[in-house]
Amino acid sequence: MAGEKVLIVGAGLGGLAAALCLIKAGYDVEVYEQAPALGEVGAGIQMSANPMHVLRHLGLEEAVLKLGVQPGAYVFRLHDTGEVIQEFSLAEEHRRQHGAPYVQLHRADLHNLLAEAAAAAKPGLIRLNRRATGFTETDDGITLHFADGTNAKGDILIGADGLKSVIARQIVGEIPATYTGDGAWRITVPVERLPKPFLPQVMSVFMGPGGHAVCYYLRGGALLNFVGIVEKELASEESWTQKFPWEMLKQDYEGWHPAIQTIIDAADRDQCYRWSLHNRPPVRNWSTKRATILGDAAHATLPYLAQGAAMAIEDGAVLARALQMKDHIADALDLYQRNRVDRTARIVEISTQNRRLFHLPSQDAIRAEFSKRNEGESRNSWLYSYNPLTVPLT
Ligand code: FAD
Repeated sequence: MAGEKVLIVGAGLGGLAAALCLIKAGYDVEVYEQAPALGEVGAGIQMSANPMHVLRHLGLEEAVLKLGVQPGAYVFRLHDTGEVIQEFSLAEEHRRQHGAPYVQLHRADLHNLLAEAAAAAKPGLIRLNRRATGFTETDDGITLHFADGTNAKGDILIGADGLKSVIARQIVGEIPATYTGDGAWRITVPVERLPKPFLPQVMSVFMGPGGHAVCYYLRGGALLNFVGIVEKELASEESWTQKFPWEMLKQDYEGWHPAIQTIIDAADRDQCYRWSLHNRPPVRNWSTKRATILGDAAHATLPYLAQGAAMAIEDGAVLARALQMKDHIADALDLYQRNRVDRTARIVEISTQNRRLFHLPSQDAIRAEFSKRNEGESRNSWLYSYNPLTVPLT
């Protein structure tokens, strides 16, 4: 089955990757985005081998490698002394074991790359300023409704409209969100503001009581990305763009390693953002006969495995394959869902469990826990060796 018209709601990383996979598979695609302009926030994103297979399939691997950094290792350290508790090699090891590289990128760079590829694949593909409000489905087709009173008609609808998805709400109902008790700071710092030498080109995770901090480089090493997760009693907005005072960030990391102080001191004072992390239970029924969801709309996750966007990109590739394999749309959407729910639920659950690992109450507890863990690449083989383009669909 090919040639049907597919309407996608949302031009985030998931919606754009899905659009490109579907165009490559021969579908007529339209993407509707609520924002008046395309853009992504100033933060890092990690792409492991599983989504990298899809980016390779789309002809984007070389560009991703040029834009990003391949970290040499994953290094766990104590928050104050910086003592290394565990380290395992990443770059070569990851590629060798899972068949594609591990890359850390600026979100805006990855998003631009996908948007440019989308524009090249089909000029005018992305329609901006179109906020979807819901859909109506019949045996003959599906109609997407917009806040401005207009409609679009197609054969298949994909809700790639993120955490607060209106398409998911219509298919699944309200998915309850519970505050985890964690806030996630994000800042980026140009390396010229940092002393030389500074932290090596690895993924450094500093772990302390009630919080942790993840530091890695972007843009070929020109920018340092800092994500700091701290326990906060009160939830603030679940938003990438809510700013908080720099002084609050500084206070949250008082007493932490000098490298952390240097990063915070070098940050722009008015560019400190904090996001409140919420849990959503995995859902299992994503589809109607003509509509389905992907990415955060289907399986929002905590960031403790760095797999939210990775899953969104996997979804698009599997969905395109399922549509090609079946004669009827409903059967294809069923095949897609059946092959994605268990894997994505497992990732969401392990991400939730990982919070405990990063928030152990004392250094003794950290040492005890990490001495038991045979952390390393092979441990996560089920996660990273999954190739969305070749995994059997049953
Ligand atoms: P989104 O990126 O949210 O895109 C949804 C799009 O839909 C937006 O453009 C929005 O404007 C549009 N939209 C919404 N509603 C409508 C509407 N009604 N009509 C039209 N358009 C609409 N993931 C990783 O893989 N690796 C990481 O390293 C990583 N780090 C993270 C760190 C943190 C602190 C957090 C919070 C998340 C992290 N994630 C990471 C997760 C990742 O950011 C998300 O899973 C990913 O962005 C989801 O993509 P998406 O396309 O599904 O949704």
